Amino acid sequence: MAKVMKKVDAVIVGFGWAGSIMAKELTEAGLQVVALERGPRRDTYPDGAYPQVIDELTYNIRKKLFQDLSKSTVTIRHNVSQTAQPYRQLAAFLPGTGTGGAGLHWSGVHFRVDPIELRMRSHYEERYGKNFIPEGMTIQVFGVTYDELEPFFAKAEKVFGTSGSAWSIRGKIVGQGRGNPFAPDRSDDFPLPPQKRTYSAQLFAKAAESVGYHPYDLPSANTTGPYTNTYGAQMGPCNFCGYCSGYACYMYSKASPNVNIWPALRQEPKFELRDNSHVLRVNLTDDKLPA
Ligand SMILES: Cc1cc2nc3c(=O)[nH]c(=O)nc-3n(C[C@H](O)[C@H](O)[C@H](O)COP(=O)(O)OP(=O)(O)OC[C@H]3O[C@@H](n4cnc5c(N)ncnc54)[C@H](O)[C@@H]3O)c2cc1C
Repeated sequence: MAKVMKKVDAVIVGFGWAGSIMAKELTEAGLQVVALERGPRRDTYPDGAYPQVIDELTYNIRKKLFQDLSKSTVTIRHNVSQTAQPYRQLAAFLPGTGTGGAGLHWSGVHFRVDPIELRMRSHYEERYGKNFIPEGMTIQVFGVTYDELEPFFAKAEKVFGTSGSAWSIRGKIVGQGRGNPFAPDRSDDFPLPPQKRTYSAQLFAKAAESVGYHPYDLPSANTTGPYTNTYGAQMGPCNFCGYCSGYACYMYSKASPNVNIWPALRQEPKFELRDNSHVLRVNLTDDKLPA
């Protein structure tokens, strides 16, 4: 570890979405970056190669792409007086491992944050009064607003190849009938048009509309056509196979660090990815900086 720190400007622990985006941004800023990923090297080939990729026993039941809890696990406790207990079985919480992390086997649903979520404490206080939130509840204001983040959501969608129907762009309503009327304003349209509505989606939309709801096209990082992202990475159109969550996408249609960012980083002399490199400890100097 100490050897790595001498050679590079930044060490990133984990190569999921967060790690890969950081690696891209930092190398663009001129830094020499090493990413340490505990899991194995994974990519569309061979992990997402058709037809073995749609083996439900391997991926859905035996959960091949997720952290193997028999080897290492996470622990949880509800407060500091408790002894933390280990997770022994994967259920709703499915941590990834290997190149791409959970970003390789996520689904691709790609909402922007709701502006209210970023100022939850203020929102509830304004709406229900100062005493509404119980003492000790950690609900907070993020300290960054949707308007400040908006350009970064727009940038990320162009990296991810996000498809969808905008509701409003720069204050102008454009999405009647297909957009989400509760979605925040956007500076630009989605990079790709929305997914086609399947027959069942059409029936659902009709039924929802008939009782006064507002069905809309889901923003998704699953491409509706061939797409080349801002880093030059190419994606193919989604074929609605349904093997998104828990699987690597064999069509190169679902955004992942592997498909959308790693191809650019692989060409980057300032970047190195080391897999099977489990960080067990970060040594700090007296002033709490990585040694
Ligand atoms: C099945 C599934 C479906 C999902 N679907 C959606 C969706 O549709 N839409 C959505 O918005 N979100 C979805 N999510 C959530 C989303 O995928 C994750 O929130 C996101 O990918 C997390 O990215 P991350 O980079 O923060 O973390 P991770 O992807 O977990 O990356 C962390 C990486 O760090 C590595 N690592 C951890 N500890 C160490 C260590 N000590 N040393 C070295 N490496 C380490 C891990 O192996 C991993 O590769 C889904 C998640 C799952 C599991």
